[in-house]
Amino acid sequence: MKLAKAYDPNEYEPTIYAMWETSGAFAPTGKGEPYSIVMPPPNANGNLHLGHGLMGALEDILIRYYRMKGRDVAYIPGADHAGFETWVVYEKALEKEGKSRFDFSREQLYSQVWNFVEKQRGNMELQLRALGVSASWGDLVFTLDEKVIKTVYGTFKRLWDDKLIYRGERIVNFCTVHQTSFADIEVEHKNEKSKLWKIAYPTLDKIGEVVIATTRPETMFGDTAIAVHPDDERYKKLIGTRVLLPLTDREIPIIADEYVDPAYGTGAVKITPAHDPNDFEVGERHNLERIQVIGFDGKMMNTPQQFVGLDVETARKRTLAALEAAELLRGEDSIEHAVGHCYKCNSVIQPLIKDQWFLKVQPLAQRAKKALNDNEISFSPNSRKQVLAQYYDNLRDWNLSRQIPWGIPIPAFQNVNDPDDWIFDDRVDEETIVV
Ligand SMILES: [Zn+2]
Repeated sequence: MKLAKAYDPNEYEPTIYAMWETSGAFAPTGKGEPYSIVMPPPNANGNLHLGHGLMGALEDILIRYYRMKGRDVAYIPGADHAGFETWVVYEKALEKEGKSRFDFSREQLYSQVWNFVEKQRGNMELQLRALGVSASWGDLVFTLDEKVIKTVYGTFKRLWDDKLIYRGERIVNFCTVHQTSFADIEVEHKNEKSKLWKIAYPTLDKIGEVVIATTRPETMFGDTAIAVHPDDERYKKLIGTRVLLPLTDREIPIIADEYVDPAYGTGAVKITPAHDPNDFEVGERHNLERIQVIGFDGKMMNTPQQFVGLDVETARKRTLAALEAAELLRGEDSIEHAVGHCYKCNSVIQPLIKDQWFLKVQPLAQRAKKALNDNEISFSPNSRKQVLAQYYDNLRDWNLSRQIPWGIPIPAFQNVNDPDDWIFDDRVDEETIVV
């Protein structure tokens, strides 16, 4: 036999790996002190990327080291059903066939995506093997395995019983293209150059005016107050009075709230509870009305007629032009600020009010913070510990629900006669439920 000019790993590695795998070399031995790593499950429907290569290499180094030291090693591989990720891929496939999600029932969609994922799933498992990771394949967990769903429902029930889960109208991060909300950490923030516009809101006597600063003039039609800091001498005497909302005939009050930073802009800010999470909270504290002026389709609504149906960007330009014509613009500053984008389609995420399921995060975050401060958790590097503590303090309630058919349904039912009456029931996929 003539020796090949160069070593071709593809020729030998699959056979060698198969030999390792079938010999049971990667399975836990049941002897020795346990050592385990749960592999963060790669998406079931796609291919691996460089990050998976890094993850696999680092984890496998530890796994092999401890296996050779005689520990009872379990390296558990997984596959993630990747709700939104998979859904985007599948919806594109539907589009190509000239169909949409609305042509099917939820059950039909679920089983179609299931088959789609089933077909794709083998790829990434083969790629993990090609990387040489010594995972215990017999223990593979798919995130839609029955035991995982059981655990999810069990956890949901515990949080429900502990009153840590609630349904309510809150600001969510909404992609108007994908028609779904996202958790805060799923939003991609990008620094963008923008303007801070200064707009005059006339006082009722039409002699004076309050100048506010905003980056989003188009949402002004949803303003239900102007807020100033309670100790701001410039505005103290105006607190409790009212101003005219420009381009409309609506009056709104001037309120005092500690949330306002007197050093930002003019020290007076417009409050739009339906389109900004901070304003939403100010609105809750002061019992302000919430007026939605951007629809879930990304188009303007509840505005003066000439703006209805415009997309947000056009509405911004036209609102500024109308303000200019009314001689209510008082200048602009160039600024750079973070704008949230959908990580799939890059469109600007709209903060919109939606009836959704939320997890109360603070009671849990504060327990984690306490454990951190009491040194129950060792954090490395220690100098960054306070950054984590601060992160815990700033966490908002977590939006749990998505508007896609692929994934684990929320195990809750609403009383048809009483919309506020919800019960927990994990029989969500059974056709008839008698309670
Ligand atoms: Zn999107």
